[in-house]
Amino acid sequence: MTRSLTILGATGSIGRSTADVVLAHRDAFKVEAVVGGRDAVALAEVARRLGAKFAALADERGGTALREALSGSGIGSGAGQSAVLEAAGREADIVLAAISGTAGLAPTHAALKPGRRIAVANKESLVCAGAAFMADARRLNVEIMPVDSEHNALDQALAAGRNGDVEKAIITATGGPFRTTPKEQIAKASAKEASAHPVWSMGSKINIDSATLMNKGLELIEAHHLFGLGAERLDVLVHPEAIVHGLVQWTDGAVTAGLALPDMKVPIANALRGDRRLTMELPRLDLAAIGRLSFERPDEDRFPCLSLAKAALRAGGAMPTILNAANEIAVGAYMAGAIGFYDISEIVERVCSTFSGRQILTPSTVAEALAIDQEARETARRLIPAPVEAVQAR
Ligand code: NAD
Ligand code: MG
Repeated sequence: MTRSLTILGATGSIGRSTADVVLAHRDAFKVEAVVGGRDAVALAEVARRLGAKFAALADERGGTALREALSGSGIGSGAGQSAVLEAAGREADIVLAAISGTAGLAPTHAALKPGRRIAVANKESLVCAGAAFMADARRLNVEIMPVDSEHNALDQALAAGRNGDVEKAIITATGGPFRTTPKEQIAKASAKEASAHPVWSMGSKINIDSATLMNKGLELIEAHHLFGLGAERLDVLVHPEAIVHGLVQWTDGAVTAGLALPDMKVPIANALRGDRRLTMELPRLDLAAIGRLSFERPDEDRFPCLSLAKAALRAGGAMPTILNAANEIAVGAYMAGAIGFYDISEIVERVCSTFSGRQILTPSTVAEALAIDQEARETARRLIPAPVEAVQAR
């Protein structure tokens, strides 16, 4: 059976891996629409490769370039946020949501249509507005399938029992590029050093989040929304080889784990599957060749972002929304060279504590979440030194 698919964030790291999966199964999928951020030429190229019907670019200024790059292809196009939302809402059986950051929330939310499946890679959507998003998905009978490798593994492991019998669901972290680096040295790390991920090749924002371990913190919050598990039933384990992605410990002491070589095409294929699994021509996991798998506890002293995210999850309400917004601003400033590595956690902590006295309730709609997100962003921006000061400070 051929199913129609729309890819949000088609030019990114997840988007490109999704295109590879689709091109390896041409008869299983037909591509309805592809969405990209700024690069019109790259978007046109992926639209042509996949034979999409429609391509939408978020950057309005790229509209002409996109039309030109698609000329003669018969593929429709549009530019600007309205075109992105239109693409997300077009008739499709599956929408793969892989825009990076909170910018992905509105398009992913616009993709909620009765009876379809959303394969969610964009964890920031769930962290910013998880409760509202999941409630809307349930109301519209939308199936949510996690693409994030840890959650995809948990989803498979959880199929072995009932949610009420889960004692702990554990997601693993590689530990990032600074797993064994002393704190004084991490403090001086440039964004380039922080981006050198030891295992995964990913987009720039998630790379920095992996170095601070905020990525794992965001993933705990993501797991909470996807699986309805409270903070006390969620945990993180550092596992540098990135072979075991998620583990479920049951009330009887049994543990069910999801393993795979670290290649996002594996969870993507699972998130796109029908009743049968797709056949993937990928290297197979050879545990004898790997020989040893190692595990350790995360160090929240060197990686304070993880404890900030755990605290936000425990606090609940709007705290995860605020944490996510502050983090996005701080990571942007760090990538621009305006602040240092530990300023990221410092800014997130200060923004969270600014709001902590206010008892902001869990946002009950996506619009409410986005309003809080904006306010938290502005608070975070005020904590970023102006470029001149930053240069003098260094
Ligand atoms: P990326 O930066 O490589 O790609 C992001 C995509 O989003 C690009 O296509 C870009 O053009 C598009 N985009 C950016 N801003 C946009 C906007 N305002 N409107 C429309 N499109 C926009 O990022 P990535 O690594 O592919 O990650 C995408 C998402 O998947 C993130 O939320 C990330 O946390 C999550 N994720 C990624 C990986 C991975 O291995 N890369 C693993 C798990 C989860
Ligand atoms: Mg992950």
